Amino acid sequence: VKHRGRNAVSLFDPDLQAEANARAWLERNIPAGIKTNEFIPYYQPKMDSEGRCVGAEALLRWIHHERGVISPGEFIPIAEETGLINALGQSVLRQVCAQMAHWTKLDALDGMAISVNISARQFHERGFVDEVITIVEETGIDPARLQLEVTETLLLDDMNQTVEKMSALRNLGISFALDDFGTGYSSLAYLKQLPLDVLKIDQGFVQDLPDDSNDVAIVQTIIALAHSLGLDVLAEGVETAEVQDFLIQEGCRVFQGYLYSRPVPAEDFERYLQNLDDP
Ligand code: C2E
Ligand code: CA
Ligand code: CA
Ligand code: CA
Repeated sequence: VKHRGRNAVSLFDPDLQAEANARAWLERNIPAGIKTNEFIPYYQPKMDSEGRCVGAEALLRWIHHERGVISPGEFIPIAEETGLINALGQSVLRQVCAQMAHWTKLDALDGMAISVNISARQFHERGFVDEVITIVEETGIDPARLQLEVTETLLLDDMNQTVEKMSALRNLGISFALDDFGTGYSSLAYLKQLPLDVLKIDQGFVQDLPDDSNDVAIVQTIIALAHSLGLDVLAEGVETAEVQDFLIQEGCRVFQGYLYSRPVPAEDFERYLQNLDDP
């Protein structure tokens, strides 16, 4: 008997089957990966227009004991859907803050901020603010050195509560960046209410500068908007000097991208920081 219709088709579609297997594998293996410390933050420097390092973004890698490096694009969406993102996010924040405490002892972090990506689901978790405070206190880091990167999807939830949570952390000195700016659907009215410090221009608008005239217009608008709201603006995905120079000319002052460095393990970033100290 041949079954027809949606269910039968999707069940035997090889691509969907492969995808379902991959998802099931991730869901099953993420908890063990957290336990055995296979989720490791890498660090990508952020640079100013004079080529000085002003901080870094922590970007998670899963160093799986059999499969090697798995990128966050593969496992973060599953972790978000399943709720595993809460344990994972907490583990990342703890590791990054511990690392920052170590770098502070080495006197390597002066003036810099290290940013950590926070999923909307993690942010909206009931205990989120207390969790962050606990980790900051336990590691003894200066909260002014910590930045949290959030996206516009935060705004799908209760606006008042979002502002309240952000403000509570910001009052401690923690700063906030709005990631992937321009790819979401937040209205500008909402943007004005959020207690933010930085707008990050999504790399999708950056990579074809200065040839793509739509991207030029969008980037100019975002920079103007950021400045009129009193926010810093950072461009991500900067891969060429041409793109960087165009952005500098347009008034952007902070950059991140392969032009400067890929995300690297903590030891490599530490070596880089120490070479900055004694040239
Ligand atoms: P994102 O936060 O927008 O991070 C920027 C992504 O662009 C990173 O990919 C980074 O490696 C990549 N990138 C940086 N410079 C360049 C460049 O010049 N060219 C190109 N083509 N790409 C560049 P990655 O590390 O694979 O991370 C992907 C996404 O996974 C991140 O996007 C973020 O949304 C998520 N993610 C990573 N780590 C975490 C984490 O600890 N927690 C959460 N919730 N999400 C994370
Ligand atoms: Ca980010
Ligand atoms: Ca981004
Ligand atoms: Ca992104």
